[in-house]
Amino acid sequence: MIPRIIVHGGAWKIAEETHADHIAGVHAAAEAGWQILAAGGSALDAVEQAVVMMEDDPTFDAGVGSVLNRAGEIEMDAILMDGRTLKLGAVAAVRGITNPIRLARLIFDDTDHSLLVGEGARRFAEAKGMRLCAQAELTVPREIERFRRLQQMPDYHLAYEFAPDPQGTVGAVAIDAEGHVAAATSTGGAAYKLPGRVGDSPLVGSGAYADDLTGAASATGHGESIMRVVLCKTATDAIGRGMSAQQAAEFAIRTLFERVGGYGGVIVADRHGQVGFAYNTPHMAVAWVEPDGTVRARIKD
Ligand code: ASP
Repeated sequence: MIPRIIVHGGAWKIAEETHADHIAGVHAAAEAGWQILAAGGSALDAVEQAVVMMEDDPTFDAGVGSVLNRAGEIEMDAILMDGRTLKLGAVAAVRGITNPIRLARLIFDDTDHSLLVGEGARRFAEAKGMRLCAQAELTVPREIERFRRLQQMPDYHLAYEFAPDPQGTVGAVAIDAEGHVAAATSTGGAAYKLPGRVGDSPLVGSGAYADDLTGAASATGHGESIMRVVLCKTATDAIGRGMSAQQAAEFAIRTLFERVGGYGGVIVADRHGQVGFAYNTPHMAVAWVEPDGTVRARIKD
């Protein structure tokens, strides 16, 4: 099997002046994941590393650069899933760490649980020797300004407005040389969310799904809509019914809109080694690696 990887850096309307940063960020993440796959590494390691790169990049709404909630706090969600065993690790509403996807991996590797939330997740991170950080380390000026703007907009509703330019959740899906698939997603969530709000991203089947029998998917967009149609499982199930990765991505986004009027995007890798993506927002930052190792990135069709 020729390994493949595709990554995303969020959907929505991405401000023109940040397009170059988004392209550079997803390009670097796809390249990093590809290096692992090309050296014979696992899809699981590849998607984790790709997501770490984007969590560390302040361009994206994940790790450093995450959005602030209504109380001015950063609470992050992440998930990682292995298509070989259907095992997963996830965290929700975790504070004070730089890389939620690494914590999801520790839950995956070192516990018999699937999802840890809030203070318990943070304490587990500390017990495992992860570096804890102050919120200031995760906060970028762009998000302080957005928070102040949203405080002046009591009617702001993420579902129906593409302004004011939310930044992106990040995700990656891959298939390795042995034909195993994996998916990972990480986010600071929705701007100006209520404290304690958890979106689709860390929910298995919604923000990510991976099954060697079909394929893997990672989502971005309006979480409350995505979880209602279990978007990533909808995409991988469609592969099981005979669709290609591209057809499955388009089918999932059509379902999102037709069933619940939702907006978002999804990346997909199928068990045959094809990748695809679809979105119904103005933009989605995506990058993928062609079978010959060429990285391609784009933000709109
Ligand atoms: N899906 C994320 C959430 O609802 C946000 C996004 O992808 O823009 O938390």
